[in-house]
Amino acid sequence: MEKTNKPRNQKFASFIRKNLYLILMIVCVIAIATMVAVTYAVKQKSGGEVVDVVLQDKPEDKPAEKPAEEKPSTNPVAAAEEVLFALPLEGEVVGVFANDTLVYNATLNQWATHEAYDVAAEAGTEVKCVYGGKVESITTSVLRGTEVVVLHEGGMKTVYSLLGSDVNVTIGQSVKKGDVIGKIAETGTFEKHKGPHLHLEVWNKDGDRIDPAQFFESTDK
Ligand SMILES: [Zn+2]
Repeated sequence: MEKTNKPRNQKFASFIRKNLYLILMIVCVIAIATMVAVTYAVKQKSGGEVVDVVLQDKPEDKPAEKPAEEKPSTNPVAAAEEVLFALPLEGEVVGVFANDTLVYNATLNQWATHEAYDVAAEAGTEVKCVYGGKVESITTSVLRGTEVVVLHEGGMKTVYSLLGSDVNVTIGQSVKKGDVIGKIAETGTFEKHKGPHLHLEVWNKDGDRIDPAQFFESTDK
């Protein structure tokens, strides 16, 4: 038994020694092939899982993000709160903003909303810019007299109606708060029953008329 085993063991040992590099190479190739196969299998598996996770998460995330995108629509209100108007002139307030109630207009003999702020003063009284901006337009009509529109940063506009045609500004001119824009006159006809006065409107960036009084520090003057 020992005699027959010894030569076999020696033969095996010499075979190993002779072919050591070949055996090592085969072992290495098998190891590399196994690693590649395992990695590929794992990639396929995790890849499938990732797609599932993404598909499940996205519909949940999107509705949560959308309200955040709508937030900028409330920003103009916040920005508007920082705006502080100077008084355009000293005088009696003869008309306030009313967009949800009808006000009788004796001149036009009709009930209508009054989306403006009216301050009465003698003809010739200077009307000042309430807030810095740029003169966008100067127009004259029978109803509204001479009307100056000042565009402000952010798209808000102030509209000075029922002015005399001898305005103190030109289109495109930059104006500061307190600059004289024009003078009270008896030109416009659509609120003639109130006597000579400034009809001041404020338009937000969307063109909607908003209450000018909210921008004055005090509306009692
Ligand atoms: Zn008015």
